[in-house]
Amino acid sequence: MELRKDPITRSWVIVGEEEGRRGADQHCPFCPGSPNQPQVISTLAPTEHGAGPVTAMVHPAPLYRIEGEPHRRSEGIYDVMNTVGAHEVLVQSIRHDIELWQSSDAEISQFLLLAAHRIQDLKQDLRFKYVTVYKNHGSAAGQEFDHPVSQLTATTFVPRRVLYELRAARDYYVDKERCVFCDTLSQELRNPLRVVEARNEYVALCPFAARVPFEMWIMPRRHESSFERAIQSKSGNLNELAGVLRRTLLRITSVAESFHLVLHTVPNTYQKSNILQYWKTVDEDYHWHFEIMPVGSMKAKPYFLKEIYYTPISSEVAAERLRMLSVR
Ligand SMILES: [Zn+2]
Ligand SMILES: [Zn+2]
Ligand SMILES: [Zn+2]
Repeated sequence: MELRKDPITRSWVIVGEEEGRRGADQHCPFCPGSPNQPQVISTLAPTEHGAGPVTAMVHPAPLYRIEGEPHRRSEGIYDVMNTVGAHEVLVQSIRHDIELWQSSDAEISQFLLLAAHRIQDLKQDLRFKYVTVYKNHGSAAGQEFDHPVSQLTATTFVPRRVLYELRAARDYYVDKERCVFCDTLSQELRNPLRVVEARNEYVALCPFAARVPFEMWIMPRRHESSFERAIQSKSGNLNELAGVLRRTLLRITSVAESFHLVLHTVPNTYQKSNILQYWKTVDEDYHWHFEIMPVGSMKAKPYFLKEIYYTPISSEVAAERLRMLSVR
């Protein structure tokens, strides 16, 4: 497998045969005592609040491998790299039948803490420019395992969508000396048409230009570029974030069977590129958040048909319907 860069859009794609994808395993690899359990990377022990252990394991059929160098090279005008990186599975519960949003806030907090630890740890490796934490739920979203898990990849490049955001946030900051996410939040809170939940430190809303019906974002009210730093430094509010995430996913799963959840946080700033002035103001201009994209709900025209997103339900209508759902 190798990584190829599209010279026009500058996005990297993985090309190649899938090596050793699993057949139908008899045993779930993530249930306790499984004979085909993958290598464990780290575990957070059970807490006194009743949360069970959460564990990061090596993905059984990883897209990226930890050994070696990216060996960035040219083929004529094209760029090619080895698929060096990390690909992990975050097992949020030892229970095979409990989804993240069916867990307690204490359990979700443990999962968030594990994600933060893994991101922080992988960023010590200067080969990696970005760490993505995501969850694909439901067959339409490409869910890979029956056991409720999330996944993590550490890559030698910044994924395209995050790169767009980082560049746009930096440009906005150069122009206005303000964070575009903070500005968005304060406008949304002033006239909360698209706000679904805003209790304390976190806000869940439908973005103004949602790409699909019921798309939601969760953002911290206070400016903070780095999810992992925020989580590790003030664990007192972790329960609150867990609660917002749980209620948001409860809402999403009442309107869609499948969804993508992705965390957007700062790239690896331990390695600064002087040539690119790499993210000099990123701590001021970027603002971490979760994005949740329901998949296949209603008659949204898929992106690949028209190359422009079209959603038949406005964010205002979506937010109103999501607010009306009774979740506790
Ligand atoms: Zn299992
Ligand atoms: Zn901000
Ligand atoms: Zn984002």
